[in-house]
Amino acid sequence: MEPVLSIEKLETEFRTDGGTFKTVDGVTFHVAAGETLGVVGESGCGKSVTSLSVMGLLPKKIGRVREGVIRFHGQNLLEKSEKEMRAIRGNRIAMIFQEPMTSLNPVFKIGDQLAESISLHLKLRRRDAMRHAVEMLRKVGIPNPELVVKEYPHQLSGGMRQRVMIAMAMSCNPEVLIADEPTTALDVTIQAQILDLMRKLQEEEQTAIVLITHDLGVVAEMCHRVVVMYAGQVVEEADVDTLFESPTHPYTQGLLASLPQLVGDQNRLESIPGIVPSPLDMPKGCRFAPRCKYRMDACDQVQPELVDVASGHRCRCLLVDKEVTQ
Ligand code: SF4
Ligand code: MG
Repeated sequence: MEPVLSIEKLETEFRTDGGTFKTVDGVTFHVAAGETLGVVGESGCGKSVTSLSVMGLLPKKIGRVREGVIRFHGQNLLEKSEKEMRAIRGNRIAMIFQEPMTSLNPVFKIGDQLAESISLHLKLRRRDAMRHAVEMLRKVGIPNPELVVKEYPHQLSGGMRQRVMIAMAMSCNPEVLIADEPTTALDVTIQAQILDLMRKLQEEEQTAIVLITHDLGVVAEMCHRVVVMYAGQVVEEADVDTLFESPTHPYTQGLLASLPQLVGDQNRLESIPGIVPSPLDMPKGCRFAPRCKYRMDACDQVQPELVDVASGHRCRCLLVDKEVTQ
């Protein structure tokens, strides 16, 4: 199937007092209509910066896309003007952020913000838009939505604000929904409701969803395919069953091993020792080498490429790179 959104060899760099460094380094992935792609990795691996690059929302002055292509229905978003991006953003590509306060306007009531966005994108009259807003708030599990529309963002709890954001993103029936840790701050019941809602929206509208998360439980439940990121690069890509049944990259294996086991000895929870390397001081060879238990001499010298392990399954590790090992 034609991908709705495809990212090719994306490089995003940031300028700081300490120097200029690439936070995203050659990331490639795509997502099709009706598909949910999980993007997994520890914080600082470049997953949020990737999505901000897609949205054209990198912090001005310090962040910029250096290389690559971001195609939306075949058109390169990086060549769009700010005005063209504004027409796409929030309408055809919507994003749910980790921190809802940054995207809700503190001086407008919840209902007004939601209805404005709805009337703009769905071309509804004001009264119908407000009715739709109340309905969306109900759908995301907000009690008494008729009252909540009259409140200001600061009057709501963090979890409620997050649900408002989700309602806002979904109310415009976007073709692509990028959800960055959308349910991390919510309790389990609400989390399940929100994920359910995203799935329903997807079924009805064939939305392409990019779900950024560190929660492999959410991945197992929601995603069709998964991209695992480490230190600004994709290290493994596979369909969800393959990833859980035969993870190939040592980092992915470590992530899965650190999942609490549902059966057996609860104490055998293994976590990956060590920390993600600083982008200002990347290892010369494999970026995972300092933490990898399979590290070989070559790993400190050679940068592994992302190579095909099987159809639709790619991995960035010298152990599977036949060019190197044979
Ligand atoms: Fe580990 Fe070497 Fe593979 Fe890197 S290339 S993940 S260090 S085995
Ligand atoms: Mg993040």
